[in-house]
Amino acid sequence: MATGVFPSEQVTFPLTRTSALVRLEAFLPLAGHAYARMRNLDHGPKGHVHVSRLSAALRRRLISEEEVVAAVLARHGLVAAEKFISEVFWRTYWKGWLEQRPSVWSGYLQSVDRAQMRLDADAGLVGRHAEACSSRSGIDCFDAWVTELKTTGYLHNWARMQFASIWIFTLGLPWELGAAFMLDRLTDGDPASNTLSWRWVAGLHTTGKAYLANADRIRELTGGRFAPNSLAASVVIPADSIEVPPAAPPRVFNTPDHSSPTVLLLTVEDLSLETMSALDPLNVRALAVMPCETNADRESLEDAVARTRLRWPDAVVLGSLNPAALDNAKASGCRQVVTGFAPVGPTADRLELLRQEAAQEGLLFAEHLRDWDRQAWPHCRKGFFALKQKIPILINAESHRP
Ligand SMILES: Cc1cc2nc3c(=O)[nH]c(=O)nc-3n(C[C@H](O)[C@H](O)[C@H](O)COP(=O)(O)OP(=O)(O)OC[C@H]3O[C@@H](n4cnc5c(N)ncnc54)[C@H](O)[C@@H]3O)c2cc1C
Repeated sequence: MATGVFPSEQVTFPLTRTSALVRLEAFLPLAGHAYARMRNLDHGPKGHVHVSRLSAALRRRLISEEEVVAAVLARHGLVAAEKFISEVFWRTYWKGWLEQRPSVWSGYLQSVDRAQMRLDADAGLVGRHAEACSSRSGIDCFDAWVTELKTTGYLHNWARMQFASIWIFTLGLPWELGAAFMLDRLTDGDPASNTLSWRWVAGLHTTGKAYLANADRIRELTGGRFAPNSLAASVVIPADSIEVPPAAPPRVFNTPDHSSPTVLLLTVEDLSLETMSALDPLNVRALAVMPCETNADRESLEDAVARTRLRWPDAVVLGSLNPAALDNAKASGCRQVVTGFAPVGPTADRLELLRQEAAQEGLLFAEHLRDWDRQAWPHCRKGFFALKQKIPILINAESHRP
């Protein structure tokens, strides 16, 4: 039984490592049986007290999956915390699944463009889309969730499922545009979790199995806040705009050479590199960042830079790693750039360009893949169940008994 009291004013989403650790500590009492019972309740923007709201921090690895799972296991043990832990593994699953089918991400980007063109050519669709995106669909819960997403950058997981289902099956809008709309507005926006969750709701992940929102369940789980009518009574699974290939091994990358003078590059894909003992032997001479676009990314990155400077106080701070900074790095004796592994998505695309620029400067470009990903991804080739079965082994549950 949960004993913790979660202060209702804690409605923000941690974007520094310290605030993420504080949030984890505050949420721990609720991560056991209480989470399994109450995680689907959606009591509105100020009432998300039954879920951790750690996703924006986990997505950027201000705090790692391993740290969160270890703390929850130590508090509750695997039986009581099974639900929470398997939710954390959904993040790992989506990431591992996409890593082994990168063309699904590029295919998604192309199909967003195609869906946008279809929209532009269809006045009826354009109107429905505009109403949906501006909280004017006439479906009470959906309109409230659009407003919540826009004003807070967050939606409860269960609300995201209803949102996507209503978008696709009731409003008849292309799933790709819904996924893009959400990805652009979520503070935890993540290429793998977002794209693949939308595909799952649409019935494109598990063949023939789609998620249909239900008005009675919505009324019940939102504490009667909403009473939607006219929701779709059945699903029509959209034609798949993306060719899904069989799983292939993750891309090949260089691992760091510990003896080489190094520029350590921070990206929003892994913002707690300084906590990793595997990187202790690195000869870090300089620090650099990959420029970012959102305020949330900037805040997280600044926090990570401050922590990394404490860990390697003698390192020169180069700022953004552009060609001029690469020149400076080389001039200060660096021979390699090391960064956290960037999974499929915009950061990996930008790193590929940087890798080519670094090569022109004669610098090796290396990535550090966390053991968490390395060990879990081979089990992310098919459905989630294959990974779920391996969770006790992956987290070495025996050593975490409370
Ligand atoms: C349509 C749709 C779109 C989504 N888009 C994103 C996205 O862009 N970025 C993102 O991080 N998550 C996404 N999710 C997954 C999930 O909704 C969020 O991770 C979760 O709501 C975050 O809130 P929380 O931290 O309070 O979760 P909690 O319930 O406290 O869960 C703890 C952690 O487990 C992980 N988790 C929980 N549920 C899921 C899930 N279904 N899939 C993957 N990981 C999960 C998250 O890391 C989360 O922080 C999406 C889900 C759906 C259905």
